[in-house]
Amino acid sequence: MSETAIVGSNPEVRSGGCLCGTIRFTVTGPADDPHVCNCEHCAKRSGSPFQWWAGFPMAGLTWTGEGGEPTWYDTYPGKTARGFCGTCASHIAARDYGDDTIIGILATALDDYATDPALVPTNLNRVAEAAPWLAQCDTRAAVAG
Ligand SMILES: [Zn+2]
Ligand SMILES: [Zn+2]
Repeated sequence: MSETAIVGSNPEVRSGGCLCGTIRFTVTGPADDPHVCNCEHCAKRSGSPFQWWAGFPMAGLTWTGEGGEPTWYDTYPGKTARGFCGTCASHIAARDYGDDTIIGILATALDDYATDPALVPTNLNRVAEAAPWLAQCDTRAAVAG
């Protein structure tokens, strides 16, 4: 796909989407504060002990898929909303009402999340709420074993 080639040639433009492909997007600009969050909202909504986030400039966000924007759910009504695919339930994004400068993107919603060095977490948020076994869990050993 020529679009992928164009995106791939510019490290400040990233593409992403949900598992089923209904929701697609591009973000332009540097990744801000890539981090892992252990809060209850991240855990409950994802079914995972934490979620992996990065911020991007809102002005550089474009919803490009046939589904348009994600479905938004207000986790803190009037304050914060989280966006997911209404078809496959993939977690995509979060935004704060009244802040049009930044969009939170789930790193795993980005196409190249596994290899993009700019997404490596530099912060662990809400560590006190983390599942207590996480510190003992060496996933490399699990893969090797
Ligand atoms: Zn989907
Ligand atoms: Zn969280």
